[in-house]
Amino acid sequence: MSENIKVVVRCRPMNQCEKERKCQNIVEINGFAVSVTNPSARISQKKKFIFDSAYKMETNTEVIYDEMCYSLVESTIEGYNGTIFAYGQTGCGKTHTMQGDELFSNKSGIIPKCFDHIFETISMATNVRYLALVTYLEIYNERIRDLLNKNENTSLINHSLKEIPGIGVSVPTLTTQPVVNANQCYDWLHFGNTNRVTAATLMNKHSSRSHTIFTITLEQSPFFNSMVSEDDFRGIRKGKLSLVDLAGSEKQHKTGAQGDRLKEASKINLSLSALGNVISSLVDGKAKHVPFRDSKLTRLLQDSLGGNTKTLMISCISPTDINYDETLSTLRYASRAK
Ligand code: ADP
Ligand code: MG
Repeated sequence: MSENIKVVVRCRPMNQCEKERKCQNIVEINGFAVSVTNPSARISQKKKFIFDSAYKMETNTEVIYDEMCYSLVESTIEGYNGTIFAYGQTGCGKTHTMQGDELFSNKSGIIPKCFDHIFETISMATNVRYLALVTYLEIYNERIRDLLNKNENTSLINHSLKEIPGIGVSVPTLTTQPVVNANQCYDWLHFGNTNRVTAATLMNKHSSRSHTIFTITLEQSPFFNSMVSEDDFRGIRKGKLSLVDLAGSEKQHKTGAQGDRLKEASKINLSLSALGNVISSLVDGKAKHVPFRDSKLTRLLQDSLGGNTKTLMISCISPTDINYDETLSTLRYASRAK
């Protein structure tokens, strides 16, 4: 397995509804192994998967950050690219893991922890100055929406991807905001979330059907000059951290889905399956062709997956019998990526 690609599983606690329905816990975690019992099999039928780590329901995000994210974020400060994904069925903890629940009170998610980590580290750097820039976008129906642009509230502008030889793929029309501390990062994250919610009321279950990518680019300059402006800045090294909250991985019900809804469903599956293909061919290492071009998501992340980059996929699952099929499919997807 590639050292640079890590896949972990996180099982959330039972929610109120599952408790009320007296659901059975079918997930067992032992060390790095996750076993799931088929609740409808007459003879006990367990499937076991091994990951780079596995986190039980009582584990908090801080432990995952320290064990899995810390070194990845350090390497982006040093000038490499890195990506952290949350994958899984809707309601299994992707946003809880990435953003946390009380974003502004206890900074419980990975994204706010990254902000703190980055700015604590770069504020102590001597002889090097950093220029930090953030972007926040959403991919919905294979269309890119800029979440840091307030004029995009309702119109679904479709930003184009541009391939710059030797540099990679970028979205030239995306809003890029310079930031000088962690608080400004939270503010932009919050701004983008608000922007997203506004549009979400117009579209059914929008948020579970779209992917979001928050990026922080850190450009280093060796010249210490407090008057340096953004235009004067000629970094020698540039690291980019991409923080990705993926669309829900659940099967879209084909029955009754027509027109837009059917199109939407197939596009969500397209990006997620393209991502799975890219990651498994990178992990495989022998594949000559990595199919980045198959979706917007993988094209956008092309410079942040593979090569010298570090990738962490956190696969979120429910512990209960009622979600058996989806849990099994998440574990299969995750173990294929491993
Ligand atoms: P997703 O983004 O995958 O759809 P959410 O992150 O919104 O799921 O989680 C759904 C609900 O479950 C939220 O209320 C969240 O607070 C709760 N939850 C998810 N994971 C955990 C966890 N590990 N510990 C406690 N609560 C969790
Ligand atoms: Mg979510």
